[in-house]
Amino acid sequence: MQPLSIKDIRSSFINATRSETAKLTPPRNLETLDWDHLDFLGWRDEKMPLRGYLVVPTAQGLSGMLLRAPDSGARKNRSVLCELCRDVFSKEDVLLWVARRSGRSGRDGNTVGTLICADFICSSNVRREPPAGEIHPDPAVVVRRQVDELRERSERFLSRVRQR
Ligand SMILES: [Zn+2]
Repeated sequence: MQPLSIKDIRSSFINATRSETAKLTPPRNLETLDWDHLDFLGWRDEKMPLRGYLVVPTAQGLSGMLLRAPDSGARKNRSVLCELCRDVFSKEDVLLWVARRSGRSGRDGNTVGTLICADFICSSNVRREPPAGEIHPDPAVVVRRQVDELRERSERFLSRVRQR
C-alpha cells in the first residue's frame, strides 16, 4: 500500500468521532514501515490496549475503522482463526474486534465484530511461503493468492462496517 502520514490516517476514519481520532496513539514505527508488504495498516493503541485501528486502502480511497476488543479480550485465544488472514500456523493471539458501524446505525449502537490477529500481523502471515513440494509446486503463487484473499476479506469487513 501507499505510505500514509498521521494526517491521512486521522482523516480516514468512518466510524470514529473527531475526539476519538484526535486521541489515537499513532503506530510507533510509522516512519519505517515496510509499506510494500502491507495490505492494510492495523495496530493497537499503546495507551489504550483494548482499542485497535484498521486502515484499509480501497479503490474509493482510504477507510479507517476504530475497533474495540471486549474487556475480556486480553484472554489468549489461539483456538480460533483470524477471519482476515486465516493463517493456521501463526502462534499469535486472535481477538474478537468489534467496530461501531458508520453513520446513523453506529450512533444507534450497532456494531460488527470479527476475529482478527491481536496485533494485526495478517499481511506478514499471508506472505509466508509454504514449503515447495507436490502440493504447492510454486509457493509464490500461493502467496499471491493469500494476499488477494486478505485484501478481499478486509474490504468485505469494511463494507459490513459501512453498511447502513
Ligand atoms: Zn490475521
